[in-house]
Order: sequence, then C-alpha cells, then structure tokens
Amino acid sequence: MSESGRLRIAIQKSGRLSKESMKLLKSCGVKFNINEQRLIAHSDNMPIDLLRVRDDDIPGLVMDGVVDLGFIGENVLEEEQLERQQLDKPATCQKLRQLDFGACRLSLAVPTEFSYDSAASLEGLRIATSYPNLLRRYMQEKGISYRDCMLKGSVEVAPRAGLADGICDLVSTGATLEANGLYETEVIYRSTACLIQSEQEQTPAKQALIDKLLSRINSVTQARESKYILLHAPADNLDKIVSLLPGAENPTVLPLKNDADRVAVHAVSSEDLFWDTMEELTELGATSILVMPIEKMMG
Ligand code: ATP
Ligand code: MG
Repeated sequence: MSESGRLRIAIQKSGRLSKESMKLLKSCGVKFNINEQRLIAHSDNMPIDLLRVRDDDIPGLVMDGVVDLGFIGENVLEEEQLERQQLDKPATCQKLRQLDFGACRLSLAVPTEFSYDSAASLEGLRIATSYPNLLRRYMQEKGISYRDCMLKGSVEVAPRAGLADGICDLVSTGATLEANGLYETEVIYRSTACLIQSEQEQTPAKQALIDKLLSRINSVTQARESKYILLHAPADNLDKIVSLLPGAENPTVLPLKNDADRVAVHAVSSEDLFWDTMEELTELGATSILVMPIEKMMG
C-alpha cells in the first residue's frame, strides 16, 4: 500500500484532533490542498499524502502498515492496542512523541445522587463506555467486577436513560458531565494526542523525511512553549531579574544610551511569563517589559 515512495499520514477527518494536526503539519512547512469530499490529500511541496479518516481507524491503519504515520489520541491508541492483543492482530507501533494538544482524561462518573466512596462502590453495577478495554484493565487492577454497556456515543445520557448506573467517558472541562447530572469520581487514564509510526521498515528516503518532520515538530512545539522577552533593568538587580526568567540563564545584556545605571535584557524563556512574575520584575525595577511569541526555533 505505502510502497509508492510517498509518505502516508493518517489524520482525523473532522473532530477534536483535526484542526491541530493540520496546523502542526502546516507549521512544519507541509502544504496541502484539501478537498472536503476526498479521502486522500496530496501535498504540493513534499512527497506526502494525507489520509483523512475517523480517529478510531487510525491506530489500525498504522499497526497494519497501511499508512506510515498517524496523529491520534493516546486513549484511542491504547484502547485499540488492548483490543487487537485479544484478537491476535498486529498491535504494535512506535510512539514518536506526545503532542501538546488533545488533552483529556478518561474518567468514571456517577449521577449526583449516587453515594460514592471508591471505585468499589460500582461493584456489580452497569457502566456505560466507549472504552471497554481501558475500563476493564482498570477495574481488573482494582479487583472490581461490573457489567458493561458498550455505547459508541451519547455515553453521558446512559444513566438518565436507565441504561447504566455510571459511565466511563472522556472529560476535558467536566461541563458535559454537569449538564447531565453526573459527577466525576475517578480518573482512570490521562491522554494527549501523539504521533505514531508503523513498525514497517522504511526506505532510507522515507525514514529521512520522517526524521525531518519530527525534528520540525520538535522545533515548532519548543517555539510554541517559549517566549522572547525584552526589558530594561537596573544593572544592580540584573542577576535577580534574570533568575526570574525561566530557562533564560544566558541573556543578551546591552547598554542603554544615556543611562549608565540601566541595561536592556533580551532573553528566550522556556515558558510563558505569568502575571505574578511580571509584577515581581516590576518590583525589582524592570520597565518596558515585552513578552513576544516565537514562531520558529532551531539549534
Ligand atoms: P470520529 O468521527 O473521528 O470518530 P470522535 O467523535 O470519535 O470522532 P472526537 O470527539 O473528535 O472523536 O475526539 C477525538 C479525540 O480528541 C479523543 O479521542 C480524545 O483523544 C481527544 N479529546 C480531547 N478532548 C476531548 C473531550 N473533551 N472529549 C472527547 N475527546 C477529547
Ligand atoms: Mg472516533
């Protein structure tokens, strides 16, 4: 399937991971012309084809070697891995890196009126979920028996509809749970999106392209997390001021025209600056503080 010489990447067609996955590829310099009706999109400037599918299909496509790379939530990846292990199907792939989007947790939740002490309160009860394997693994570790109610969607309405006593579902803010009269009692799995690669041996050219993409992804993510900081500081407080800038041990320090007591500081900080830090900087006499985003970073 993927012997064409072009790198095949599977991404979610439409859903919570699509926009960020596309954005990441674009910021790595991969250009696409997406036709909403088409399953496959060809890159105009790199030997890359995008396969736009439902997220549930992505781990299997990678594990079967139909595509080379996939952007997927760890929750779906691990659920599929557990499922395939039972069916004796290929269940391995390489996780190239975790990504900084798609954060969510798989949690147990019960109706507000349910008196819950621990997961053992669910002993013998029915739990609705789209993640039967992750749920089973957790409950087995705790030694709790329960009954399954497998639902692909609308899991959060199951208790009210009388289909289940509790649920095991993805949560990010908890607003959906609250709207359905449920509360979160236990986090059983924490997930973010990740990039996976098939175990199939790649041609040197394809592997070089994968390495290049990965290195660009690392640069883009590092740049996203970092800030360029400019400020004026009293020379006497320079060390204290620099120590407040996370990961900026070696800033550039420049003299200011007509002011021998103050200097200009330029630094790349490995994190954003919080308001509290900005206020501390001001208290130490820093002025003209600018915190700017960085688009790309290398070396
Ligand atoms: P598809 O039609 O592709 O099967 P879907 O409905 O299964 O889509 P989405 O709701 O788009 O999936 O979620 C995709 C992934 O986004 C989840 O598997 C999870 O990794 C991540 N995600 C992040 N936040 C949330 C959230 N609040 N609820 C659900 N998924 C979330
Ligand atoms: Mg899905």
